[in-house]
Amino acid sequence: MPQIKKLLIANRGEIALRIHRACHEMGIQTVAVHSTADADAMHVRLADQAVCIGPPAAADSYLNIPNIISAAEISGADAIHPGYGFLSENAKFAEIVELHNLIFVGPKAEHIRIMGDKVEAKRTAGALGLPLVPGSDGAISDVTEAKKLAAEIGYPVIIKAASGGGGRGMKVCNDPDQFETLMQQAGSEAKAAFGDATVYLEKYLGNPRHIEIQVFGDGNGNAIHLGERDCSLQRRHQKVLEEAPSPVLSTEERNRIGDICAKAMADMGYRGAGTIEFLWENGEFYFIEMNTRLQVEHPVTEAITGLDLVREQIRVAEGHGLTLRQEDVQFRGHAIECRINAEDPRTFAPSPGRVTTYHAPGGMNVRVDSGLYSGYKVPPYYDSMIAKLIVFGQTREGALRRLRRALEEFVIAGDGMKTTIPLHQALLDVPAFQQGDYTIKWLEDWLASQDEAA
Ligand code: ADP
Repeated sequence: MPQIKKLLIANRGEIALRIHRACHEMGIQTVAVHSTADADAMHVRLADQAVCIGPPAAADSYLNIPNIISAAEISGADAIHPGYGFLSENAKFAEIVELHNLIFVGPKAEHIRIMGDKVEAKRTAGALGLPLVPGSDGAISDVTEAKKLAAEIGYPVIIKAASGGGGRGMKVCNDPDQFETLMQQAGSEAKAAFGDATVYLEKYLGNPRHIEIQVFGDGNGNAIHLGERDCSLQRRHQKVLEEAPSPVLSTEERNRIGDICAKAMADMGYRGAGTIEFLWENGEFYFIEMNTRLQVEHPVTEAITGLDLVREQIRVAEGHGLTLRQEDVQFRGHAIECRINAEDPRTFAPSPGRVTTYHAPGGMNVRVDSGLYSGYKVPPYYDSMIAKLIVFGQTREGALRRLRRALEEFVIAGDGMKTTIPLHQALLDVPAFQQGDYTIKWLEDWLASQDEAA
């Protein structure tokens, strides 16, 4: 069995650090790659070696496949972990990595490809027995037929881009008279954003929750699930806070959907970490997509299961079996993650800049994943998420109390720099959130009500 000795981390920020930490705990050396804008980043400082792979723009650095492969060859790395975002769901990259006799810490390229095309993903998910959102069987191209189908499904419907991602490329249609216009708009916007005009049709669920299942496969037909994460707190289809377990699922419901997902992954021969995303309404799950990578919110699952997901990814990539059998997986307590962004907490305008004072909270069952330090300059070129705060408690109430305390301690101060810490603090005072009574619409409605009141 190949043993990884040196691993190149093809990413930046907190996730690069997260992977570095798992590697060092496993006795694996790390190679950081970075753009010129990230020369002083913490992931570069902590790694055993660092290679500059290009200028600030991600297209020229963190997405630059030839430079990343060269960095791996120069440094003598034997494996690459892509993290999330950037090249993590690029099937071509996974293939190129393997062509260079490097271990790709991630799924098989064919599975990345299938799940990266949402039409193909939905078809595969259906064939594997996952419950789907009612919708078109594949892509829609003919307006008259699509309109007929929309009427059968029943309005409102949502027109989605097959290559969409990050909550973009979706149009909700409430009215048959607008269908044609919206379908055309969706197609041309998808073409502009993703280079692919393919769209498909789904029933638009009025008020669902977003509940996703963490899965893990060994690539040889064995797979387990690690329960769910409730990611219903969203703004513009972007997750803001995640928690596990979901406030609405019973043990039976968790086991039922979890077993369906684990069986699907076993049948597929899926390798590594994956997340199957569902909308949930009135007790029913509806598959929307699968992410073939580690998720931002994976620490929530680590907190309630005690399993180190990055270590598990690396072990599976080396060819080991899964550490746990399904019957060994035990869920305990409650975990909540806040995504802290360098943004104005009211307008959400990006607010990068130099951090003058940084103090992370600590204490029992408090985890902070962040590349920040006092003096660090947050570059304007990348995602605005600068820290993740994860708290664990025996109960949801306990986790909420701990979250309040940890947010009080958190100091991220800079010249004019703003963060979304005050937003998370404000949420803790809202009864609906305290009771776990929220759907994917709730946060935007609440934000709008706050703006009106101001
Ligand atoms: P992306 O890959 O862009 O994240 P998803 O298919 O995962 O796209 O959808 C992102 C979000 O869009 C979901 O979490 C949900 O908020 C909303 N959404 C997607 N499909 C539907 C639907 N059929 N009905 C209602 N909301 C939807």
